[in-house]
Amino acid sequence: MGIVNPAMLELYDDIPKEARDAIEDVMLNRNQGESGQDATERLMTVAENYQNGGKKKDSTVDMSWREGTVEERIAHALVKGITIIEADTKEAWEKYPKPLEVIEGPLMDGMNIVGDLFGAGKMFLPQVVKSARVMKQSVAWLNPYIEAEKVEGEKKGKILMATVKGDVHDIGKNIVGVVLGCNGYDIVDLGVMVPCEKILDTAIAEEVDIIGLSGLITPSLDEMVYVAKQMQERGMTLPLMIGGATTSKAHTAVKVEPQYQNDAVIYVSDASRSVGVVTKLLSKEYRQALIDETREEYVKVRERLAKRQPKAAKVTYAESVKIGFQYDWENYVPPVPNKLGQVIFDDYPIANLLPYIDWTPFFISWGLVGKYPKILQDDVVGEAARDLFDNANELMQKMIDEKLIVAKGVFKLMPARRTGADTVTVYDRTTKGGAAEYQFEHLRQQSDKASGKPNFSLADFISPSNTHTDHLGGFTVSIVGTEALAEKYKAAGDDYNAIMVQALSDRLAEAFAEHLHELIRKEYWGYQPTESLTNDEMIKEKYVGIRPAPGYPACPEHTEKGKLFDWLGTVDAIGTTLTESYAMWPASSVSGFYYSHPDSEYFNVGKISRDQLESYAERKGWDMKTAEKWLNPNL
Ligand code: SAH
Repeated sequence: MGIVNPAMLELYDDIPKEARDAIEDVMLNRNQGESGQDATERLMTVAENYQNGGKKKDSTVDMSWREGTVEERIAHALVKGITIIEADTKEAWEKYPKPLEVIEGPLMDGMNIVGDLFGAGKMFLPQVVKSARVMKQSVAWLNPYIEAEKVEGEKKGKILMATVKGDVHDIGKNIVGVVLGCNGYDIVDLGVMVPCEKILDTAIAEEVDIIGLSGLITPSLDEMVYVAKQMQERGMTLPLMIGGATTSKAHTAVKVEPQYQNDAVIYVSDASRSVGVVTKLLSKEYRQALIDETREEYVKVRERLAKRQPKAAKVTYAESVKIGFQYDWENYVPPVPNKLGQVIFDDYPIANLLPYIDWTPFFISWGLVGKYPKILQDDVVGEAARDLFDNANELMQKMIDEKLIVAKGVFKLMPARRTGADTVTVYDRTTKGGAAEYQFEHLRQQSDKASGKPNFSLADFISPSNTHTDHLGGFTVSIVGTEALAEKYKAAGDDYNAIMVQALSDRLAEAFAEHLHELIRKEYWGYQPTESLTNDEMIKEKYVGIRPAPGYPACPEHTEKGKLFDWLGTVDAIGTTLTESYAMWPASSVSGFYYSHPDSEYFNVGKISRDQLESYAERKGWDMKTAEKWLNPNL
């Protein structure tokens, strides 16, 4: 058996006869070559001609493409993402009667080749975004002449894209916008943190054909449901596309689609699918089929989910506390930090962060799936990955050399005690009398574990002892300057580097979090002074202690991040702020708690019961409606 990507197969007839015959003799056991029983030997001999993929080893840059016609040269530049396009554009402009015909002729022809190769799995997102940059450059050159003639290009359709209110992440959305743009669609990109009213008003004013919503953090899911509801209420009749990290087909089917019945609601799982979906939605021929198919599919998804055993909490809250983490605290002496209180990094050397980068998610954000560094040698995406990686390192060096971005961070290590089943209190040494300053409320697992593992809460990993003082840490790190720099590239028509800057800043923020955590373990808290882990081991979380991040599975309730920020003094220290959905701004930021306990681990709170919700609401001083709003996914 084998797994084959049919898109990568060569046409049978395109396999050279010599090779085809030799292979067939072996495969079909024909053994009837000219010299009798020598099929194996002949295949071995033939195979030698195909080493290195049959390609010549040649490191000199092949410029023979410059010898083709201007149309061929433009197509080549587009497919290869080569940005020396002005001379060819000018030549085409001289050749064609109208500048618009250059766009509709050779440029669109070239982009169609790109589209076909992409559709066939022979080109990948980073390459397509590069092609779009070439297209943009060429169009920018032609634009003054087009405007002078006052001709309007015919557009295939207009698509509004927005990251919803309270959310700040838009790398995926930007890639979708560029890819659709280079397929001839007009994009109205409203950016991030866009309120519903603005999305809908703009959609109407601009007469767009499709609305695309994006979001990364869980509160955005509810915001998308709200937008769908409002579309229904306003009687709008245009398709709605849903995408982004926390979105899913299940969420779209169960929560979003039932709210909006006037037109299609379609979940788009990644940027590479957006072209297909949009093309169908805007085609007379395929539109209805896609809508019907999707509706049918979502009905099935809803039925399947309704039938599934509800993953409800299995044990009561009181029971789950009882079967929580047990530990002999009176015989445990927690490590005392070497450095207590707030520490600020105003401008941390970025070069120090490079060894801590986890590159795998970088490739994922560009639609290239595979583990770094193996991905660089991948048969299918290797070439695209290597090129992307080279460009990334080049831009990274430029960002460092020219100081285009700044790494900022703040952390605090403070005395702390578990003061309730799921409450951790931190005491601020700097406050007179060591008054209790912040109480962090946590959630507890309520599953019925076959593994016999305890039902964890993050509060479990802090000592309740009055004899031995334990400590808790917290941190925020941010990369500052990304948005402005990305905007600059965008304004210059270079979406490729705009997206690259965002993707690299995300990597640096994560790398800073990893590096700072190591400094905490080895120096500032110093409970693992002799630790020596490789980057790979750190990515695999082999360190002692944890740095759980609010919004993640062990502490999924986002508003605690507000408390964490207050405690750390994050806003004053480094200027990082929170949106109404508790997304961090600038977008390339990471925050979390530090725990030193040797048995502390990452876990998933999962489903909670109503009695835990009530307890949590009481501790937070919330009414039940507020509690339901923030813990919606956990109920
Ligand atoms: N190396 C990755 C980072 C992975 S996220 C990158 O560069 O993108 C890893 C971090 O997510 C952890 O350090 C922790 O802060 C957080 N995390 C992971 N699992 C968690 C959980 N179950 N609960 C809370 N935080 C978690």
